[in-house]
Parts: sequence; C-alpha cells; structure tokens
Amino acid sequence: MLVDSYGRKVTNLRVSLTQRCNLACVYCHAEGELSPSREISADQIAEILHTAGRLGIRRVKFTGGEPLLRSDVCEIVASVPSGIESSMTTNGILLEGLAGDLKRAGLSRVNVSLDTLDPDRYRQITGKDRLPDVLAGIQAALHENLTPVKLNMVLLKGINEDEVDRFLQFIRERDHIILQLIELLEFNDCTLHADLGSVEQDLRKHSERISTRRMQHRRKYCVNGAEVEVVRPLHNTEFCAYCNRLRVTSDGKLKPCLLRADNHVDISEKKGKELEEIFFEAVRKRSPYFQ
Ligand code: SAM
Repeated sequence: MLVDSYGRKVTNLRVSLTQRCNLACVYCHAEGELSPSREISADQIAEILHTAGRLGIRRVKFTGGEPLLRSDVCEIVASVPSGIESSMTTNGILLEGLAGDLKRAGLSRVNVSLDTLDPDRYRQITGKDRLPDVLAGIQAALHENLTPVKLNMVLLKGINEDEVDRFLQFIRERDHIILQLIELLEFNDCTLHADLGSVEQDLRKHSERISTRRMQHRRKYCVNGAEVEVVRPLHNTEFCAYCNRLRVTSDGKLKPCLLRADNHVDISEKKGKELEEIFFEAVRKRSPYFQ
C-alpha cells in the first residue's frame, strides 16, 4: 500500500499516453509536460500498471495529449490488470469509431472534454471545427455504456461563462451523464481565468442535494436532476489534503504533484522490485500543499 509522509493513501494513477493532440486549445496546460522526447511503450505501461496494482492502486485514468491518437490504445486498456478500474479523458473527436473497442478492452467510462456547445466558440477555443464529431463521440460512449460519461467543461472568462445552464440542460436531456466544471489553471500570460466561486455558490443555492467525493474532496451538486461536480485545485487546501493520485508522464516519469515539475522520478525501462521502490520514492516526494 502506498501511503505518503502526510498519511494520504495513493490509490489512483493518471497515465499520459502521448503529448500529441489533434486540437490546439488556447489554455491547455499539457498536463505540465514541457517537451517530452519520447513516448512510453505499451509494454512499459503494462509493467507500470501491474506494479501499481500490487501496491494498492485501484483506479487508472488515461490521458494525454489526446490518448485516442495512439494506435495501440485498446491494447493498453486491455493490459490493465483485474482489480484496477480504468477510465479515460478524451476530447471525443475519435470516440465514435473507438467506443465499442474500448468497452470490449475493459474501459469502464470516459470523460469528454467539451467547453462549449457553440460551433464558433468551439473553433475559437480549440482551433478546429470538430464539434459534431465530439457530440457523436458522446452519443457513442453513452450507447456503449462507458458511463457515467463526464463532460469536462473548463470555465473560461469572456468565452463560455454564460453556458453553464445550457450544459445543465444538455445533460438533463440524456441519461448517465454528469457535468464536471473545472477551474482554469493559469499559466504563461493567460487572462481567461473565470471565477468558479460564484458559479459554485449559485449551484449550491439551487441544489436539491450536495455530496462530497473522496477524490480531492470535490463537491457534487444535484440541480433539478442534473449532476455537477466542481473541480477547483487552486485556492483549495482540501484539493491537496485529499489527493490520492500519482501521475505518469508520457515520456515515462512518475509525477507526484499536479502543479510541480521539479520532483519527477524516471521509471522508463524499470521493472519488478526496482519499479516498486521508485513508486515509494515518488510517494515520499508528494507535497502537502501548493508551494
Ligand atoms: N485530450 C484529452 C482531453 O481533452 O480530455 C486529455 C488531455 S487534456 C490536457 C485533460 C483535461 O485537462 C481536459 O479536460 C482539459 O480541458 C483540461 N485542461 C487543460 N488545460 C487546462 C488548464 N489550463 N486548466 C484546467 N484544465 C485544463
């Protein structure tokens, strides 16, 4: 079992499969990866997942870049050992064609990143005209029971702040779909940060039910039948205090903290006991809060 120096059990792994992407979102943090020089192999991912399973990891989320750009994505999903539940976050563009294969490979559910339901805004944010593909991907995921499907919506100042109600309506019209509202993590000279605090207050006011998830103590609101989860890593001490997650970068490093790039541990080409030891080392490097 992986427990860090502050008593936090680590049971979740977030694995970046690639830094390649078929969108160019204006705000993308690329999961904190600067310029990876190589891509971790499917065999190495399988080795990491088996070690992680022995050490008590119970959930894995595949991410990227865009994970569906990897031609071996279904092979990777199929390599997840029993006892670990797998999910994926995707921009949804290629999901329609892959949802069935992913389900058969053992994926339990997907997060689909979608910040707007307006085609012009979609192009403004992502640089591409692929909204119809994403909507078809969401339908396919629902059809294949990759559920609950979570829609990841990053709130962007002056772009989509007025769309929360439209998204709530969108999910009310479908079963097994949840909205996940995400606070923008600013980097570089980004001026798009929107105040999620006031949106959350509004949700709280209109909720018939509020619960708290174990994962980073995220709040979950039920507003007139629509479920909304709020993810606010900044200005939120609970986010770190209840963090149970380690990350694997697309070039094969263990990343102990979301917002730190100075404490990564290389695991490429490592196996067995040596790999286990590196997991323990990475867990020892976890910070108690943002620094
Ligand atoms: N391509 C996949 C996707 O679109 O879901 C996986 C990678 S993407 C980096 C993972 C998630 O991070 C997406 O939901 C995206 O909206 C979110 N994200 C990217 N940059 C962000 C930022 N600066 N602040 C908050 N969330 C961000």
